[in-house]
Amino acid sequence: MNRVHNFCAGPCTLPESVIQELADEMPDFADTGMSLIEMSHRDPVYDQIHHETMDLLREICSVPDDFSILLLQGGASLQFAMVPMNLIGTGDQGSAGYVVTGSWAKKAIADASLIGKTYTAWTGADDGFVRMPGQDELSLEDGTRYLHVTSNETIGGIRLPDFYDLDVRQVGDMSSDYLTRPIPWDRFDVVYGGAQKNLGPAGLAVTFVRDSVLEQIPGGLPSYLRFDTHAKNDSLANTPPVFSIWATGKVLRWIKANGGVAGMQQRAADRSAMVYETIDSSGGFYRSPVDTASRSHTNVVFRLASEDLEAKFLAEADALDLKNLKGHRSVGGIRASIYNALPTESVEALTGFMATFAAGNG
Ligand code: PMP
Repeated sequence: MNRVHNFCAGPCTLPESVIQELADEMPDFADTGMSLIEMSHRDPVYDQIHHETMDLLREICSVPDDFSILLLQGGASLQFAMVPMNLIGTGDQGSAGYVVTGSWAKKAIADASLIGKTYTAWTGADDGFVRMPGQDELSLEDGTRYLHVTSNETIGGIRLPDFYDLDVRQVGDMSSDYLTRPIPWDRFDVVYGGAQKNLGPAGLAVTFVRDSVLEQIPGGLPSYLRFDTHAKNDSLANTPPVFSIWATGKVLRWIKANGGVAGMQQRAADRSAMVYETIDSSGGFYRSPVDTASRSHTNVVFRLASEDLEAKFLAEADALDLKNLKGHRSVGGIRASIYNALPTESVEALTGFMATFAAGNG
């Protein structure tokens, strides 16, 4: 297989072995004479794949028994709405505080505000979203039902260094750092994220929800939007995204074979450090715009002296098969997304190129 170094922010690189297995198994799944994506989602053959993926999630993420695992569609974006719908309703169950740390948190609070009572517990808007706040900087109001945190801001390239330990339960959007560190379950009521960065292909969102939440869902919600619809039916209430669930199961097996969450945590720390070291030792040629303590382990953003030089960097990188390094269109600059499945050789190829480019253009 001719594989490029793909630093895409999502969808993104998946393990080569998984891509190969999917290709091999696609035409005739388990001697059924059809592919898995042509089969009824009620077929026992699919049912086994479905439950294997759920079981692997529970095992690898150490999900406690009193949490349900929901395999949903609509991406993390639909969770921006489903979370407030299921936890606060129109306001009868309290308000929701949001830690506004960048583009994704802004979208989350914007949607939640359409549903119920919300407030900003902290915002980094004034300093350009370059850091995560410490716990003592949060302003929590009385009557808070949950505090929403975005544990890694994919566009800004900042990561919550340590999860908060608060009296109020939290909800976490972990889309871009899923399975790169353990989740302190006792502090969360809901954890959610899209699969398409660290877990598998697009089309699947994984939501973990504390069972006690399921008993207090406000009335009046359409059935798909109720967490308990999916919890009661093992995420088979309607047709699930069968391809994504199948492929995610394979990625989870790959993660398990590569040290599980602890292995991914080390991998993310080591590999992002390689890029940060290249930035820090470049004598100012490359510049990280974010606070050192909040540096993301999965989305490394950096700037060069001018946009022209950044364009040259991107063009030369592209010619060397270092793909998708352009920063998000809203912020510009360079962004290397280094999710679980990206090979370490790709990071080495990037840092090697960065050193050569700095030497030739400094
Ligand atoms: N939250 C974060 C932190 C994200 O990075 C993204 C996608 N990049 C989203 C939410 C939205 O996810 P989706 O595209 O799955 O709706």
